[in-house]
Amino acid sequence: KANGKVTIDQIEPLSKKSFPLCMRQLQESLKQEHHLRHWGRMQYGLFLKGIGVMLEDALRFWRAEFSKKIDPDKFDKSYSYNIRHNYGKEGKRADYTPYSCMKIIMTNPPANGDFHGCPFRHSDAGLLRQRLASYGVSKDGVNEVMGLVSNSHYQLACAKYFDLTHNVEASTIGINHPNQYFDESQKILNP
Ligand code: SF4
Repeated sequence: KANGKVTIDQIEPLSKKSFPLCMRQLQESLKQEHHLRHWGRMQYGLFLKGIGVMLEDALRFWRAEFSKKIDPDKFDKSYSYNIRHNYGKEGKRADYTPYSCMKIIMTNPPANGDFHGCPFRHSDAGLLRQRLASYGVSKDGVNEVMGLVSNSHYQLACAKYFDLTHNVEASTIGINHPNQYFDESQKILNP
């Protein structure tokens, strides 16, 4: 699926198999809250663009979820501009690039009520442990990941999580971008 078109109904299943933790968290939060705040919409929206969600689908996807909580007209008025903007259809018409790990780890740390950021950098250690276990990572695996986290090796922790969840042994894949994570995952799962 790397660099192909991704349809709306593929997003949820893909999130469970091929999304890095940061993006799976945003997908889950969006479904739970029917809302994401600005930096969550930016981080997730640009990632989705990067995996191949087309503009019209992106608008339908966000509209369907937000409309569970707000009036669809309000969505059109308040949020659709930003999504079109991310696809370069408004404003400067620049083609906005999905955020790298460095950018996500180093800038705009999440506040209360935010779900963006890098979970390896920004999550409470106890919650991160629970989340990893709930995603099927073994106890030893969780300990390995958390060891890297406690030494501030966030991207190595992400790579270890990748190895553990794709049944590859100590791959040499370095993770530096959520979209690269996705592509590497699809190469393994969907060769
Ligand atoms: Fe996402 Fe990068 Fe953090 Fe992995 S290291 S969870 S891809 S920001």
